[in-house]
Amino acid sequence: MTAEKVATILGFPRMGKDRELKKCVEGYWSGKINVEELISISDKIKEVHWELQVKNGLDVIPVGDFSLYDHILDTAFMFNVIPERYIKATTNGEGLTGYDLKNIKAKVDTYFGMARGITMSGNIETDGSAQGVQALEMKKWFDTNYHCIVPEIDDSTSYALVGDSLVNDYKKAVKLGYRARPCIIGPVTFLHYCNNVGKRLSKADHAKKLVSVYVDLIKNLAGAEWIQLDEPVLSLDLDQEYVDLFLNTYNELLSGVHGITKVMLVNYFGAYEDNFTKIVSKLPIDGIHFDLVYGLSDFESTHAIDKIKNTISAISLGVVDGRNIWKTDLAISLEKITQICKSIGNAEIDIWFNSSCSLLHVPHSLDAELGRMDSEILQWISFSVEKIRELSLLKNAYIEPSLFTEQINKNKHEVTSRLTSQKVKSIPVQQQLKEIPSTSTDESVFSRNTDNYERRRVQRELFKLRKFPTTTIGSFPQTLEVRKKRQEYLKGIISKKEYDTYIREKTKKCIEWQLELGLDVLVHGEYERTDMVEFFGEHFTGFCKTNGGWVQSYGSRCVKPPIIYGDISRPKPMTVELIEYAQSLLKGTGKYVKGMLTGPVTILRWSFVRNDQSLQTTATQIALALQKEVLDLEVAGIKIIQVDEPAIREGLPLRKKDQISYFKWAANCFKLVSQHVSNSTQIHTHMCYSDFNDILHLIKDMDADVLTIENSKSSLKNFKGVKGYYEADIGPGLYDVHSPRIPLVEEMKARVHELLKIFTIEQLWINPDCGNKTRTEREVDLALKNMVQVSRELEASF
Ligand code: GLN
Ligand code: ZN
Repeated sequence: MTAEKVATILGFPRMGKDRELKKCVEGYWSGKINVEELISISDKIKEVHWELQVKNGLDVIPVGDFSLYDHILDTAFMFNVIPERYIKATTNGEGLTGYDLKNIKAKVDTYFGMARGITMSGNIETDGSAQGVQALEMKKWFDTNYHCIVPEIDDSTSYALVGDSLVNDYKKAVKLGYRARPCIIGPVTFLHYCNNVGKRLSKADHAKKLVSVYVDLIKNLAGAEWIQLDEPVLSLDLDQEYVDLFLNTYNELLSGVHGITKVMLVNYFGAYEDNFTKIVSKLPIDGIHFDLVYGLSDFESTHAIDKIKNTISAISLGVVDGRNIWKTDLAISLEKITQICKSIGNAEIDIWFNSSCSLLHVPHSLDAELGRMDSEILQWISFSVEKIRELSLLKNAYIEPSLFTEQINKNKHEVTSRLTSQKVKSIPVQQQLKEIPSTSTDESVFSRNTDNYERRRVQRELFKLRKFPTTTIGSFPQTLEVRKKRQEYLKGIISKKEYDTYIREKTKKCIEWQLELGLDVLVHGEYERTDMVEFFGEHFTGFCKTNGGWVQSYGSRCVKPPIIYGDISRPKPMTVELIEYAQSLLKGTGKYVKGMLTGPVTILRWSFVRNDQSLQTTATQIALALQKEVLDLEVAGIKIIQVDEPAIREGLPLRKKDQISYFKWAANCFKLVSQHVSNSTQIHTHMCYSDFNDILHLIKDMDADVLTIENSKSSLKNFKGVKGYYEADIGPGLYDVHSPRIPLVEEMKARVHELLKIFTIEQLWINPDCGNKTRTEREVDLALKNMVQVSRELEASF
């Protein structure tokens, strides 16, 4: 048999063209549709997607990439990694007399229960009580913006093959006439994401038990030519323990399925680097996937290929970027592929033209942008369907170059037009960038002029805040009414003037409300913003928004990241008018309102970024644009400015060697924003969703005057101890705003007493752990009343 050329992808986005999946699972949660409808609608979505992929040129389609909520949760569920408490709660506390897996509703409710929690009343939206069972934790999927569920394993976890949806999907796809490839999250990556709460068994012990279930599963898939095992942990620095875990697990797995099917080992988000020699080259695998967008370094020499070319039967080349939206430069990709094929020489190896990773991280198709997005920008972009067409074209052009020169030339013209477009380059921005010192040479280049002791002294004198000052993180409830008004404005039903007046009124009420509550440092409520990035994206040059560019963030939640395509500047003030107005309402009170901005790293992380310059350069441009805003706010008399950086921790590169420079430029970009403000201007920042103990050095380096921080997940233990003190002001969130539960005065006070073991009275601020945006006004009112009371009682007792 001669070697075959195959166009395929590692996975397709699940939501559907019009987010049908979101609508259907949310419809099920709210009782609008029943479980049979949920299954039949989601089956239909899968089938539509298979057809779409083949129609657009794929030879082989992945199955098992679809999920009702999350693929790690699916894997856990399939292997019976289901904590008993969820099964119990699904049967409404009646206890379990035989969990009937054939009962489809019980199954689906247990599945969603693990993801979202279960209350005894059965409705997690309205019942905020502590009864019931909490959801499993979520974690970022490597360095993407996708969050997966963290399964829980313990000593009694009994692995078994209980789910059959993968096998069923595979059979269905085959029956429909497709060449399908089952995709499974590999055992090591799966265990990597599991939380081991057991005392006795290590992850290696678990792997020994788990591997036989993988073998069972693969045996059930007999008939499939290939199985795809995703092991993106291979993009991480793996210690010896992991290397051994990998080798042992895979030797066993591969010998168990030998002769049944071929295994394609898949890594993405980076290069294998040393894991190639230490692990991959030692395993008898049949095929190997390379991420040629983010892991190109594996091909700096032909070393990798030489090692495996005589033992594998297929090589998968991930040349189309699965996590960014730029059109592939097909000529360059063809060149890369040709080079690799040359080093393979005469070996009979199939070539897969593949996406770098699953297309989960990019939107569905450009259809929703046609006629809406600027046509020049549109020709630079590919979403999932367009990326599939690229892969098909690449394969065809590789086989028969002469037939496709026109299309390859057209592509070349389009991708190069971006690099030379007037839209992309701004001379003043480039000039300004040149003028700022190189961040690689000096760590203190962007520091404020004096040290933080002096700033603190000046600010204490000016603000005269009470002990345990209270504040909030920024947003107040975005009620249905607020969202409705915005829709009306966007649809042209109400004028800009009417909308602005409405926003002002809301802001005014918000200020009055906070005064009534007795808060010390106020916010304007962020009613004018849908989210933290879009608002700034709309005001900066170099950004464009999409109409339907939805990407799954977790479960049914999708985000619509803006696209950064060009040099970034801020043509005019964005927030000054409204903040100034809010401050004017405080005349005579001696109180201040915080200016509220999103920081450069967070804006970068939550957008699709340019791939024609470094992340650092783009972040520096954003920082310079924000710097202008900060200075304008200062001129307008705003004395306190918050620059939010909730995403700063998640930007951390996967490999340690890349992390050092990230820490440096991320902190520098943050500092650049407020570099030129006077000592008396107080800079706040806010961070959430992470463990902060391991980035204390970064936090210190950012040098904010006040840090409000979500900390339900970490104890902040390192903030005082061997690794050094944290000396600036800090407001560790006293309660979780993501829960509708009203925090009690006594429990918040107890929390402060705990915090006083780490921080001084002078340092501590009293605040929630994140913005109030998603809460109801009643919940916010009650929670903040209690919170202010905590501050007052503490003030009186110290
Ligand atoms: N200022 C923002 C808000 O309150 C911060 C949100 C966040 O940290 N994610 O909504
Ligand atoms: Zn937050």
